[in-house]
Amino acid sequence: MARKIFIAGNWKMNKTAAEAKALCEELKASCAQFGDKVEIAVCPTFTSLTTAVEVLKGSNIKVGAQNIHWADNGAFTGEISGAMLQEIGVEYVIIGHSERRQYFGETDETVNKRIMAALKYNLKPIVCIGETLEERENGTTNAVLDKQIKGAFAGVSADDMLKITVAYEPVWAIGTGKTATPEMAQETHEFIRKTLTDLYGAEVAEKITVQYGGSMKDSNSKELTAQKDIDGGLIGGAALKADSFTALIANTL
Ligand code: PEP
Repeated sequence: MARKIFIAGNWKMNKTAAEAKALCEELKASCAQFGDKVEIAVCPTFTSLTTAVEVLKGSNIKVGAQNIHWADNGAFTGEISGAMLQEIGVEYVIIGHSERRQYFGETDETVNKRIMAALKYNLKPIVCIGETLEERENGTTNAVLDKQIKGAFAGVSADDMLKITVAYEPVWAIGTGKTATPEMAQETHEFIRKTLTDLYGAEVAEKITVQYGGSMKDSNSKELTAQKDIDGGLIGGAALKADSFTALIANTL
């Protein structure tokens, strides 16, 4: 069975609750045309999650958070738990984004703990991996990804792996306007699927959605998602406006 295209918008630290409400209303209308041909999610900040869930109820757009802590509750100032996200109707959660690895000390070990917490609360993790420019130029991309994959998914069962989306995001392509060429991205996606095959077997690996992220927009979403192992995108900048996000999705179909 072919994997369904999955496009998720990562709004990062953008949009007040009022702005998020307006964008969700626009997206609800503009994305209705896609029906269930594509999986769509938006990931606003914590303060807009409840609004997004309310506005998008009954639509074809799911809501995700941008982080989750591994503890159920406690003295973890600034963090949020799986129970809190589940309670308000959040479905997805982005884990291990390169900005969290770079600015907030996220490691493969903490990514793993957050994945376990998400699974415990029936949240679907979108797990980000990717190499820096230096690592790509050193020729260590595959070694870096192999370590990130094995670290992130340590102890994750094959059944749980089917609830997880992997987002391959070359760090040098995020927010820079530099996109990996479709061929370059496909080569890396193929490596990621092979690594998942070694860990979980071909039957499972063939079902796992692997998104590309890094300056994906309406002008390149078609050729990127046409690649055999690219199953959609995690979108930053182009997800902040209804017209660019909708056009990006339309071009994948
Ligand atoms: C991201 O931050 O996940 C991302 C891919 O950003 P952009 O699309 O802006 O490069």
